[in-house]
Amino acid sequence: TKWVYSFGAGHSDGDASLRNLLGGKGANLAEMASLGLPVPPGFTITTEVCTAFYANDRQYPGGLKDQVDAALAKIGEAVGMVFGDKTNPLLVSVRSGARASMPGMMDTVLNLGLTDETVKGLAKLSGDERFAYDSYRRFIQMYSDVVLEVDHHSFEELLETYKEERDYFLDTELSADDWKTIIEGYKKIVADALGKPFPQDPQEQLWGAIGAVFGSWRNERADTYRRLHHIPESWGTAVNVQAMVFGNMGETSATGVAFTRDPSTGDNHYYGEFLVNAQGEDVVAGIRTPQALTRRGREAMDEDAPSMEEAMPKAYAELEKVFEKLENHYRDMQDIEFTIQNEKLWMLQTRNGKRTATAALKIAVDMCKEGLISEEEAVCRVDPHSLDQLLHPSLDPDAPRDQLLTGLPASPGAASGEVVFNSDEAERLAQEGKPVILVRIETSPEDIHGMHAAKGIVTARGGMTSHAAVVARGMGRPCVCGAGDVKIDKSETFFTVGGRQVKKGETVTIDGGEGKVFAGAVPTVQPELSGDFATLMGWADKVRRMKVRANAETPHDAQVARDFGAEGIGLCRTEHMFFEADRIIAVREMILSEDKKGREAALAKLLPMQRSDFEELFRVMTGLPVTIRLLDPPLHEFLPHSDEEIEEVAKSSGMDAGKLKDRAHKLHEFNPMLGHRGCRLGVSYPEIYEMQVRAIIEAACSVAKETGEKVTPEIMVPLVAKREELAILKERIDAVALAVLKEKNVKLDYLVGTMIELPRAALTADEIAKDAEFFSFGTNDLTQTTFGLSRDDSAAFLPDYLRQGIFERDPFVTLDPEGVGALIHIAAEKGRKTRPEIKLGICGEHGGDPDSIRFVEGAGLDYVSCSPFRTPIARLAAAQAKL
Ligand code: ADP
Ligand code: MG
Ligand code: MG
Repeated sequence: TKWVYSFGAGHSDGDASLRNLLGGKGANLAEMASLGLPVPPGFTITTEVCTAFYANDRQYPGGLKDQVDAALAKIGEAVGMVFGDKTNPLLVSVRSGARASMPGMMDTVLNLGLTDETVKGLAKLSGDERFAYDSYRRFIQMYSDVVLEVDHHSFEELLETYKEERDYFLDTELSADDWKTIIEGYKKIVADALGKPFPQDPQEQLWGAIGAVFGSWRNERADTYRRLHHIPESWGTAVNVQAMVFGNMGETSATGVAFTRDPSTGDNHYYGEFLVNAQGEDVVAGIRTPQALTRRGREAMDEDAPSMEEAMPKAYAELEKVFEKLENHYRDMQDIEFTIQNEKLWMLQTRNGKRTATAALKIAVDMCKEGLISEEEAVCRVDPHSLDQLLHPSLDPDAPRDQLLTGLPASPGAASGEVVFNSDEAERLAQEGKPVILVRIETSPEDIHGMHAAKGIVTARGGMTSHAAVVARGMGRPCVCGAGDVKIDKSETFFTVGGRQVKKGETVTIDGGEGKVFAGAVPTVQPELSGDFATLMGWADKVRRMKVRANAETPHDAQVARDFGAEGIGLCRTEHMFFEADRIIAVREMILSEDKKGREAALAKLLPMQRSDFEELFRVMTGLPVTIRLLDPPLHEFLPHSDEEIEEVAKSSGMDAGKLKDRAHKLHEFNPMLGHRGCRLGVSYPEIYEMQVRAIIEAACSVAKETGEKVTPEIMVPLVAKREELAILKERIDAVALAVLKEKNVKLDYLVGTMIELPRAALTADEIAKDAEFFSFGTNDLTQTTFGLSRDDSAAFLPDYLRQGIFERDPFVTLDPEGVGALIHIAAEKGRKTRPEIKLGICGEHGGDPDSIRFVEGAGLDYVSCSPFRTPIARLAAAQAKL
């Protein structure tokens, strides 16, 4: 088996199409080398080795060592150096690289191959002793941290103390002799911690680092990242070994990261940051504040330090050519890592860049207009989930605000929350339902869970490409970084800025688009959805087959949904209309009545209220279908709790309070989810549904008359398991509906259908379809009843199921395609056999989940219905599912 793929020096074994085998980084390094770009030569150990390594008790497959030796020799030939040689030592980086990009989640080791001997060779060879020892100290620190697992704080402390004692401020001020002293200190730390010296054999170093990268595939932060991004553990990571190039060779050397378009706004200009005399990690680590790549960028930030465009015009011009070549080649915005060694440009990485939702939209629309991609491709370029960011509020421009500080506008959006200073606490408070803003000096991959839990992030250090900024943009969290004036107290109980103190727990508001933080909660406003958003949604609507409806009860929600492009209401839950203060008493009166007469009296009070609810809803939705579900939940959910509430019902109904209490007690159920609810209520208490149907049809008649437009109610019966249930209820529904139409003398189409939310209903859908004119898959209940799993109780063990891989996804978020999905397939097929024109849709949380929508498209249903705010997400996802 070929375990190792070489790249560089104009030739590569692999290319971008081998992403699964070589990981994203390795595949793109190979591709760039083939394109003739300056890539330091190297090789990739495949993801299959990672899989084999874990399957085989952490043993490497046979033959790997020989292939690595050969590939290493090839690198040496290409650059004219020899790994481990004392006079002419080849140094390499050992880099992780998974199939899906996981920025900063796994480990990388630079400058590998340096020892007490080879460092002397490097010094002589480069004629720069300071550079050689700077590289060696970096290597010892990184290798110790990543491979030997010696606590990195000890190294940082030693360096800090050394600098303080000698009044140094920047690392660049240290001389070769300074580094030599520090290296001795570092080696002592390692020897003390491990009881043996720092490894002086380059081969041992190499295999140590390879093992550590494979090992890092299963470290805790990589696990967390994978879980959040649904990356299967089985994919494995590749390992890239690559000849080192040096950005730390003095003032004509540098390292940087760049985007071919602005990753926050999507604007079509180059964007990036670089650091002179530094190595890769320095830029992202936020230790020194990087300089702008372009003059434009420098001016926009109002910085003094020259941009790369100004300071290194030759290398910059070369870089611009590479940008153009890469963007045209990949036909997408690229995120690039590069190094300049003595004015010569080297490419170290390229990938499709992460971007905000605004940027994703703009880039997709622009690239289509530039002729780079088609409309369909543009539609596929925007992650439907990310639209969430745009649909959410921004700061009210007219609201008063009390500005605390400014930093860099690292990730847009507005959020308010309590200040917290560490990630564990952020997670804990978020679990209690508190909105929090995470404030840190800088973030590292260990903060992933805290950043995810927080509504927004503020950091004191780091630029626009710092860890915090990249991760926040990816997650869609507002983020302000590089807020240099913020001083976080060591106690982590407060921070100070501009003479003000902000304590833990105080509320602040951040505006990530402006890079500003305000004291207190600033009110927000809804976004305008025009421009690129409207253009792209238009393209999506052109290719979409399924309709998108919304779940809404109130006129306000219905209006939001319609504005977001909903094509009807897929689920109106009538019980939500029963909880309002002036109604609940009548509802309770109805439930607690001892006989039909009492119930009818109470229902007569409810009728006009229900009618006006439906009138309002029909008015907002004229011309579009509205599915109304008859009462579904068990009656006890509406029961009075306190004596006071009982008293109220007694007064309104004239019944005895003691009797009411007894009756309420009797309604108690052991398992309400499977109890007296849904159509079972309609069977026992037909007058409830009769009142609702009357209200629906009366409302439809009056709105049809008033507006002259078509009103199409779809009356939906919940929780049907047997055809007979629906048959009995449909007869009553039709009787009432026809009576009303006759009374009002109006002609109007209405449908009667059912939810499919019990396995028995799905399995006997051919029978049920004899009476149902439509099916709506209630996938929340269908998931509960298929798994026998209570949605409200699953939180206790769901994390275990996800961690142990029993569930890949939470089945209440993403539809289970094998089980629940199979039932949907069966029901759709059987339903259509009986009634070919039957309308099929899904309501329930899954209706707004892109992966579930893909399944629904595959099952050939007519529509999905989701919450109003998710309507655009569903429109886009439905279009992508079709493509
Ligand atoms: P990550 O996946 O965390 O970005 P990388 O493997 O890309 O890790 O390495 C981080 C940084 O290390 C790179 O951006 C680059 O600046 C530097 N680096 C990696 N390999 C080399 C190399 N061969 N020569 C010089 N710098 C390198
Ligand atoms: Mg990288
Ligand atoms: Mg249900």
